[in-house]
Amino acid sequence: MTSDDVNDCLFCKIVAGDLPADVVDTSDRVVAFRDIDPKAPVHVLVVPKEHHGDVSVLAAADPQLLAEVVEVADRVAHDLADGQYRFIFNSGPRAGQSVFHVHGHVIAGTQLGWTPA
Ligand code: 5GP
Ligand code: ZN
Repeated sequence: MTSDDVNDCLFCKIVAGDLPADVVDTSDRVVAFRDIDPKAPVHVLVVPKEHHGDVSVLAAADPQLLAEVVEVADRVAHDLADGQYRFIFNSGPRAGQSVFHVHGHVIAGTQLGWTPA
């Protein structure tokens, strides 16, 4: 990670409050906000406040922080839906990652299909 990664990072700007977002949950080190282009009735992005590029980097750098991301995701799914949910980390461009600040997608609120490719 270079300082430019952080300075140009959309989700770092949302975490800092420099860009608006519909925040639905926060903890000391994690923020959850609604996806701007929702794919389900509940589609929330859960991000660590600290910049890490993807889940692989986060898992290696700070596994406890990854656990906190999962904890917030689970809480969001219980608060905004019925606690049944999918939690997706797109990791790398070929997997569909377009924002390179690690984020998990909480997808819930409907019967989900399974057509990832
Ligand atoms: P990825 O494709 O990296 O897994 O997911 C990035 C997600 O960020 C996409 O689902 C996209 O809709 C969402 N997104 C992109 N820009 C913004 C934004 O400015 N605000 C919010 N809330 N979501 C965004
Ligand atoms: Zn960032």
